[in-house]
Amino acid sequence: MENQQNCLCGSGRSYAACCEPLHTGRQTAADAEALMRSRYCAYVLQHIDYIVETTVPVQQHLLDKRALRSWSENTRWLGLTVLKHIPHIGKIHAQVEFVARFQEDGEACEHHELSAFVLIGGRWYFIDPTVPLPTMKQPCFCGSGKKFKACCGQFFK
Ligand SMILES: [Zn+2]
Ligand SMILES: [Zn+2]
Repeated sequence: MENQQNCLCGSGRSYAACCEPLHTGRQTAADAEALMRSRYCAYVLQHIDYIVETTVPVQQHLLDKRALRSWSENTRWLGLTVLKHIPHIGKIHAQVEFVARFQEDGEACEHHELSAFVLIGGRWYFIDPTVPLPTMKQPCFCGSGKKFKACCGQFFK
């Protein structure tokens, strides 16, 4: 896509001033909303490596890259609306509520999600609830040293 074109995440800014520096690795997302937007935009652009890299590191090997790629290729993306961003939940968590609109097999669909994000080593990561999570009593996978239920698991009880 052209760098000066409006970013596909719907921020109203140019791609060059919005998701591009995140996609190229020149910058990391300043907050969970920026990360969420850049992940949506990466789906549209079929930048699957970025989807993987921005998921909690220990979950990355659980992601099915081929399935992600074929889904993003076979979907016509129609737009993103961020409904709510809670930038600080405790010290290392955030949530973003959004609706992504797309067309699949000619049918208009909406995906409404309240996503959770965690700060690890100064970077925001998406917690993917669709792959196996630790049990509530296990140490949290973000490395905080707390039990999962007292840390990232609080969003999945
Ligand atoms: Zn963007
Ligand atoms: Zn955690």
